[in-house]
Amino acid sequence: MNDCKIAVLKGDGIGPEVVESAKVVLKAASESAGLLMELIDFPIGMEAYRVFGRTLPPSTLEGMKSCDASILGPLQTGSYPSDDKDSPMSSGKIRKYFDLYANIRPVRSFNREKPNTKIDLVIVRENTEDFFPNINLHKGYGEFWTDKNTVLSLRVIRRSSCERIARTAFELASARNKRKLVTAVHKSNVLAEGDGLFLEETRKVAKEFSPQISLEEKLVDSTAMELVMNPKRFDVILTTNLFGDILSDEAAGLVGGLGICPSLNAGKDYAIAQAVHGTAPDIAGKGIANPVSEILSTVMLLEWLSFRNADGLRFKEIARIIENAVVSQLLSQNQDERTLDLGGNASTQDFTSMLLRRISDG
Ligand code: NAD
Repeated sequence: MNDCKIAVLKGDGIGPEVVESAKVVLKAASESAGLLMELIDFPIGMEAYRVFGRTLPPSTLEGMKSCDASILGPLQTGSYPSDDKDSPMSSGKIRKYFDLYANIRPVRSFNREKPNTKIDLVIVRENTEDFFPNINLHKGYGEFWTDKNTVLSLRVIRRSSCERIARTAFELASARNKRKLVTAVHKSNVLAEGDGLFLEETRKVAKEFSPQISLEEKLVDSTAMELVMNPKRFDVILTTNLFGDILSDEAAGLVGGLGICPSLNAGKDYAIAQAVHGTAPDIAGKGIANPVSEILSTVMLLEWLSFRNADGLRFKEIARIIENAVVSQLLSQNQDERTLDLGGNASTQDFTSMLLRRISDG
């Protein structure tokens, strides 16, 4: 009998390339740790459309539900064929379906030249509402035309959602045991009600964690600047959906780009590993995408599973095997061991093969 079942969904653009890499790496590491892990493919996006005429077939959702968790590639949000039965389809739709309310996005530097300029922060982003509410007014989100010249956008902020995402951020700051600081990022000078509510709930949760963990509140605009000028001052950044989406790509730019930044979509009972980046149409199909973001997202998924499985230590062990191999490869001085986005020469496949060798050599 298998110890764990993971659904694998390749997605669009560079998705098949990076998800395949994450899959073979996970398979090799779990075998070396003696864990029986079943990795089951389900079609999504254009792969599913070509077969079923729809991008999110019910059989795919059922398949995901029958597994313990999923690994998902990027989706070409907003540009599926007009006769797609599931459009508008996006990663956000799947996150809402499984109520994956926390999007956890660590940003770490792997700087070979200047190891003491290390950036190590995590963005905790609310993942189910804000300007991405759970209602289909127009093309998927809360937008509607009042007349042919005016669009109104709906922003949803609920007390219960603020409370649970704030709790996630404080628990993470405790577990990280680093600067012990949660920075709540908002725009309450303009969005007084919604972000006012977000801050009100955050302050309540902060009291429970005080004085071990400190809370600071910062406007999103000045945070965007400070992230560039002094990223090392941050520990856990807690924010709403849209701000978190933008700040995490900005932060990725400080550490080498989207190719190395992982992300986990987590709820109470389910989680999905999915890289921060999108489908990268400019490099899709060329075999040069960096698979690290998807692989490290899978490491985060293993850690999430370790708290929900009787064999948790083995999940942690596999996570460490993969992470150590990735970090040592990223820190290598050899250009042939890095992908193009990091100034190297390795293709996705070369990078993956070298990683597999590192894993089998222990
Ligand atoms: P993108 O993240 O796809 O690409 C931005 C830049 O980063 C590009 O130059 C790309 O080549 C580079 N890049 C991204 N991932 C890389 C990797 N693994 N290795 C090397 N380089 C990498 O963002 P975009 O171009 O703004 O969006 C393209 C599409 O992706 C859009 O349809 C968008 O809606 C979708 N998207 C999907 C998700 C998701 O499903 N989670 C997230 C973001 C964007």
